[in-house]
Amino acid sequence: SGKWARAMAIVKEFEEKCGTPTLKLRQVGDAMDVEMHAGLASEGGSKLKMLISYVDNLPTGDEEGLFYALDLGGTNFRVLRVHLGGKEKGVISQEFEEVSIPPHLMTGSSNGLFEFIASALAKFVASEPDGFLPPNGKQRELGFTFSFPVRQTSISSGTLIKWTKGFNIEDAVGEDVVGELTKSMEKIGLDMRVTALVNDTIGTLAGGRFYNQDVIAAVILGTGTNAAYVERSHAIPKWHGLHPKSGEMVINMEWGNFRSTHLPVTEFDQALDTESLNPGEQIFEKLISGMYLGDIVRRALLKLAEEADFFGDTAPPKLRVPFIIRTPDMSAMHHDTSPDLKVVGNKFRDVLEISNTSLKMRKVVVELCDIVANRGARLAAAGILGILKKIGRDTAKAGENSKSVIALDGGLFEHYTKFRTCLESTLKELLGDEAADTIVIEHSNDGSGIGAALLAASHSQYF
Ligand code: ADP
Ligand code: MG
Repeated sequence: SGKWARAMAIVKEFEEKCGTPTLKLRQVGDAMDVEMHAGLASEGGSKLKMLISYVDNLPTGDEEGLFYALDLGGTNFRVLRVHLGGKEKGVISQEFEEVSIPPHLMTGSSNGLFEFIASALAKFVASEPDGFLPPNGKQRELGFTFSFPVRQTSISSGTLIKWTKGFNIEDAVGEDVVGELTKSMEKIGLDMRVTALVNDTIGTLAGGRFYNQDVIAAVILGTGTNAAYVERSHAIPKWHGLHPKSGEMVINMEWGNFRSTHLPVTEFDQALDTESLNPGEQIFEKLISGMYLGDIVRRALLKLAEEADFFGDTAPPKLRVPFIIRTPDMSAMHHDTSPDLKVVGNKFRDVLEISNTSLKMRKVVVELCDIVANRGARLAAAGILGILKKIGRDTAKAGENSKSVIALDGGLFEHYTKFRTCLESTLKELLGDEAADTIVIEHSNDGSGIGAALLAASHSQYF
């Protein structure tokens, strides 16, 4: 019928607008490289903040002792205790607890959020067996993974530049997040010192390096997305401090804020951005990361409903609810292998209150998931190509057989199989066979927590 033809035309147009042919991805990679240079050249020189992390030494594996870590960066936060045993024993043990953040605290006050976190940390500490007390009156030490853009002032302090990923707590912007946490810990009588403030990408890089010395970059694909890598300190014109002995400095790119005219942005992305908590910002993140993918699919479906009567004469009201299709729902539908696409049918019934979807309609839904996931995964691969270009590792060098390992983590990468395999195959496509053989993508499972504990150890006040 005419309506079905109209629906197909909408899908086709969407697919075209989301297109990421190799040439376009190379342009995105080149643009990333250019913006990286600009962001390193001067403060505010690029949308890419290229933040200096003050981490100029990554773990060697010699770290020893009992350290804590706190990981805040999405809807959950985690508290960890890691027992490090040095070269011989590695990580002797680790325990963690995950706590979800009540939504009202994500947009409330700084005190509200940090007091909630400090009390969860205190509970975790209180629950541990005797014998965990640090020896001779020493303080417990904590690595704080805080995965929002922070302008570091030292390895253990930094001010919040802005919130992302659905957080919006105005009175915390511009404040030292370690100061805020410390204040809350003191208030409830928790005696602990933050010795390292890092971002999840830096934590993942550090955690990855502990196990594999070839790790040179880390990428997070979770609620949001970001990347960090090891730069030569002499290649950072905006760094006016002393050059570290290592000659290296880890850079937190904040690549979620990357934007380029080469990015394939559709009407749905534009609307999502306009209606977001941070319009005009984190454009790359809004095309790629777990917080947003499901909602892009929802917006495409809503257009099908409104302009092609895809679900009948009126658009189903639930389709108008922002973020009602979460990326895990999308992933489940995308991976549906049942002949009648039962998972899709059930999700539509349970999440959207739309029953009686035909197989033909369900196939369209899967196609939309495919379009959105592929675009995100391919753009993430282009971003990685940009980093490799920046550090001259995008081509195989004759006579060298060293590997470059990129540590990847985050729920999207971990659980969305089609996204992950598409990212991996796209990176190969972009690098070519020879160079691709020198690049390894490694899933660093929860490396960021251990990484923060490792950095807390290497920056301990007692050494
Ligand atoms: P965060 O980024 O909040 O620190 P994670 O790295 O655990 O936390 O990532 C969580 C995100 O990963 C979720 O917001 C969701 O978008 C995505 N995710 C989790 N599970 C799945 C899944 N099964 N399929 C697709 N995406 C998922
Ligand atoms: Mg995380």
